[in-house]
Amino acid sequence: MLICRNILMMMATTMFDFRSDTVTQPTAAMRAAMANAEVGDDVYGDDPTVNDLQAYAADLAGFEAALFTASGTQANLLALMSHCGRGDEYICGQEAHNYKYEAGGAAVLGSIQPQPLTNQADGTILLSDIEAAIKPKDIHFAQSRLISLENTIGGKVLPMEYLAQAQQLAFDKKLKLHLDGARIFNACSELNVPLHSIAQHFDSFTICLSKGLGAPVGSLLLGDEAFIERARRLRKLVGGAMRQAGVLAAAGKLALTEQTARLADDHANAAYLAQGLAQLNQVELGYQATNMVFARFNHADLAGLNQQLLEAGVKVSMAANMRLVLHKDIDRSGVDALLEVLRRHD
Ligand SMILES: *Cc1c(COP(=O)(O)O)cnc(C)c1O
Repeated sequence: MLICRNILMMMATTMFDFRSDTVTQPTAAMRAAMANAEVGDDVYGDDPTVNDLQAYAADLAGFEAALFTASGTQANLLALMSHCGRGDEYICGQEAHNYKYEAGGAAVLGSIQPQPLTNQADGTILLSDIEAAIKPKDIHFAQSRLISLENTIGGKVLPMEYLAQAQQLAFDKKLKLHLDGARIFNACSELNVPLHSIAQHFDSFTICLSKGLGAPVGSLLLGDEAFIERARRLRKLVGGAMRQAGVLAAAGKLALTEQTARLADDHANAAYLAQGLAQLNQVELGYQATNMVFARFNHADLAGLNQQLLEAGVKVSMAANMRLVLHKDIDRSGVDALLEVLRRHD
């Protein structure tokens, strides 16, 4: 009996995990590519697999250069520190990952002041708010250098016309424009546009390879050559220069070549989940956008519900206000498994 329960628990931990798309497992092809990757010392620029990934990504985006980083947090930090110096300022959303969820890295390590502004319901920051927040050249003020946007943000895709307007504003005000594009391919998928059509509006942007795209580790930072050279130096400074990193970059390449097209399936599964949740009495659907669903769970016993979900092989970040994230390791049957438990407890 004990053995049975342990097996059930083991199965449960490997089943449907809705907490984030960061939980995705590398594909068999990624594991094979990692095992067989040709590698060298990337600090000497000698790793052919890292060089290939960086060149491929830069070409895909229509950018001069790319840099492989340990994480999205590191890529954002390098971007903020490459654009801004001590006493400079970046303007971003209150909900921006690189303001709210990165341990204050730009301030702590870069002495860069964030100027967070309200994100509107659609994820944008009002251009009038940005314009009003730009500091005049005056000894009283930190110097505004950069506007940083995020796409997708809370799953929401920023409108293309907004990107063009933000680019115009940055140009007029002599500011740089950065995109936290951790999930930029989800935006591309939703709009059915290629990477460069979003990227072209920005001076720099990031891509997370380790979320919906399934690579085990790594992000990319893209920009012009001088910018990436500054970022490469800063990557060394923060201890992020890696040696035979081609083992990781090999999986990252497959993330870009084999995993972007299927993000549409995650968006369809998220819509299917949202439809199911909308029919329940105990659940108030917030919204669904790309691969994310937000809902309020009014069940009296959330801990008990969580236990039932775990026994059905479903893992969530249990909370009254919950984010559910779809990804390649959750198919329709995973969504059905979640909905089935919720219907039983409705
Ligand atoms: C996950 C995420 C990051 C950071 O990526 P890590 O690899 O987890 O450090 C940055 N920005 C956004 C929008 C993210 O979702």
